[in-house]
Amino acid sequence: MGRRPGPGLYIHLPFCPSLCPYCDFATQKYRPGQARELIAGLAVHLRRLAGALRGRRLETIYFGGGTPSMWPAAALAGLLELAVDLWGLAPGGEVSLEANPGTLSRGKLKALRAAGFNRLSLGAQSFDPGRLAALGRRHSADDTRRAVDQARAAGFDNLNLDIIYGLPGQDPAAAARDLARALALEPEHLSLYELTLGPETPFGRRYSQGREPLPSEDQVLAMEDAALAALAAAGLERYEVSNFARPGFQCRHNQSTWRGGDYLAAGPGAHGHLDGRRWAYLPQVGPYLASLTQGREPYQFVEDLTPQQRCLELFMLGLRTTAGVELAAVEEILGRDPRQVYAPGIRRLQELGWARLTATHLVPTTLGLRMADAASAQCLGSHIGRT
Ligand code: SF4
Repeated sequence: MGRRPGPGLYIHLPFCPSLCPYCDFATQKYRPGQARELIAGLAVHLRRLAGALRGRRLETIYFGGGTPSMWPAAALAGLLELAVDLWGLAPGGEVSLEANPGTLSRGKLKALRAAGFNRLSLGAQSFDPGRLAALGRRHSADDTRRAVDQARAAGFDNLNLDIIYGLPGQDPAAAARDLARALALEPEHLSLYELTLGPETPFGRRYSQGREPLPSEDQVLAMEDAALAALAAAGLERYEVSNFARPGFQCRHNQSTWRGGDYLAAGPGAHGHLDGRRWAYLPQVGPYLASLTQGREPYQFVEDLTPQQRCLELFMLGLRTTAGVELAAVEEILGRDPRQVYAPGIRRLQELGWARLTATHLVPTTLGLRMADAASAQCLGSHIGRT
């Protein structure tokens, strides 16, 4: 196996202009005073983490949220500059920013590109005015189109669009029209998510009891089949259950995390992983900042993974990617050949037609990608639990 992928840095900026009713991310409504304190706190936190990588340079930096793009460009640029000062950034390093189309302008995009951001992930979600309103999005389809034009003019040549399907009242034809509008903008990358109903979200409460109709399972499958065909025809190759890219434009930060790579984290609710230890920070801004002020690492939890847990994660995440699970990576952790240790589970996956074994990888089939959660849980999870 090659060296473990990464390292990366994930910075979580939790504020949003308003809260979307389907969202169950660690996010909260924007409060200017607290936002200023958080920027200062993040700088303190990054400096405190300076020695954690023991001289390794960052390969990727990812600003996620929340809506990071609602912050002033100067604040984002300052955090990025600090991170690069502290750890360095490998040549060709990927620097991503999640953005809401309604929070961008020509000048801001120019400033962000000049500061070193080179990948922009736009939360388009839909191009249908009614569905954007139902999703609680503040931006319009035209805002997204304008943001794409302005990002191109500012020099961003690595753009992602997030699209959601399976929305209330949506049929397969409507979902196909929505995706076609996204593809007309020629993004290098597209993340396509089925609407999920978090039980604690307003959408979850409203739709999960079946009082209002969502598309049927058959309709959702039809949407997915049509989407896979349209994405392939547009030259966007699937490389993870929900992620599609032109060759060379896969999100390296996410790929690294799916392959068990190391990444530092900062920000309320952020998760990190380094040398077999994983952790999350306190999700609320106030307690996160208070903990930093008191000189403590603001952990919500920290956990040293057993070799079995690390292998389970490699299987669970790898079976969601078209590259599959790298067997040498599992063997390096376990010290034994995974083909033997997990033989019954792997055989079961093959019998179900969910995965195939190559010389180096356990690779999910298209059906296996559709069944990814069940694949690892039913076929490997129970077995790994016993080893
Ligand atoms: S903008 Fe994104 S992170 Fe913020 S509430 Fe909406 S879905 Fe959640």
